[in-house]
This record gives sequence, structure tokens and C-alpha cells, in this order.
Amino acid sequence: MSMQRGKLVVISGPSGAGKTSVCRALKLHADVVFSVSATTRTQRAGEQDGVDYHFLSREDFQRRLGENQFLEWATYNGNLYGTPRWPMDTALAQGKTFLVEIEVKGTRQLRERGVEGLYVFIAPPSIDELRRRLLHRGSNDPVEIEQRVRIAGDELAAARESVGGRPMYDVILENRDLDATIRGVQELLWPSA
Ligand code: 5GP
Repeated sequence: MSMQRGKLVVISGPSGAGKTSVCRALKLHADVVFSVSATTRTQRAGEQDGVDYHFLSREDFQRRLGENQFLEWATYNGNLYGTPRWPMDTALAQGKTFLVEIEVKGTRQLRERGVEGLYVFIAPPSIDELRRRLLHRGSNDPVEIEQRVRIAGDELAAARESVGGRPMYDVILENRDLDATIRGVQELLWPSA
């Protein structure tokens, strides 16, 4: 008996758009496996090593990069982020939905290599609303918030680009209401009969 291969789902969007909250809801589904990225950024209060991220030194990250351990990787705001390769292969072979939450440069790498999947971009209603949400979150300092707002502008523009003649994202969802956005993504993943 051959098991049906699972599906890759890429969720991206600017920091503060709400994608982590969307992913948290999707993780509750039994057939979803969530990718734990490696990063060189400092661990935030409340984050668990090995659960939220694998927190690595820059040397360790670079070594793994040299060993081709990452499916994709990118620099974001001065830190390195990458998706470990093997969990996806395992999850897809088991018929699971493999969820990766990554920024746009990493998404572009996957698209350029023709990695099949559902590519979803979560956009904020506006840049002002994004800034308000980042301030409300309270986990970034004011300088970092402004850096993230600036990156968000670039990401919103990049999200509408094409890669190899097809749109970078299959769907761009504007997150005005979190519950509605979660329902929207669920409907994309598991269309009701
Ligand atoms: P944060 O520092 O807020 O946790 O993440 C910063 C940005 O990096 C977010 O847009 C997040 O989605 C993205 N990111 C997290 N892990 C990865 C990864 O493995 N690869 C890429 N390309 N981006 C990632």
C-alpha cells in the first residue's frame, strides 16, 4: 500500500501581520507538522529552544550551511534564518502537511527551485496597523520595530512579484480579522466538500 505524499504549505508575510498566530492555529491539526527553523537571532522571553527555533551561534549556522543542511535560508534584519532539510522529507513521506513560516527571500528560493506547495502570504491591512501591532506585541525595541516596518514595505512589494513566470504566492490574504484569516487558510488547506 502506498501512502499519498503530503503537502508543503509556505506561510509568509511581514513581521506583525499575524502569520505566527495563523500557524499556531494550524498546528492544532493532527496531520500538520510545523518546521522548526534555525536562527542566529537572540532568543526572546517565552521562546523555547528546539520548539520555536533552534537557536544557533553564527559559526554553527555557517557550518550547517556549508554542509547543505538547509532547504532555504535568508538574512533578516542582520540575523540568519534557515529551514532544516530533513524534517520536510520525513513529513511528506508520511503524508503530512508540512508548514514552514518564512520570509520572502527564502520563499523565492523555493519557487526558483520549483518546490511544489501552497504558497500563502499574510498581509497587514496597512503599514500603520502593522506598526501598531508590533508596538502592542512589546517584544521588539523601537529601533527594531522601525527596521521591521521598513522590511515589511519591501516584502509587500516583493510578494507581488513573479518567479519564473508564475506568481510568488498562490494567495495573498489581508489579515483584518484573525479568526476570519485562520478560516480562510483552513479553507485553502482543507476545502469543505
Ligand atoms: P522573527 O525574528 O520575528 O521570529 O522572524 C523574522 C522573519 O524571519 C519572519 O518573517 C519569519 O517568518 C522569518 N523566518 C523564520 N524562520 C525562517 C526560515 O527558516 N527561513 C526564512 N527564510 N525565514 C524565516
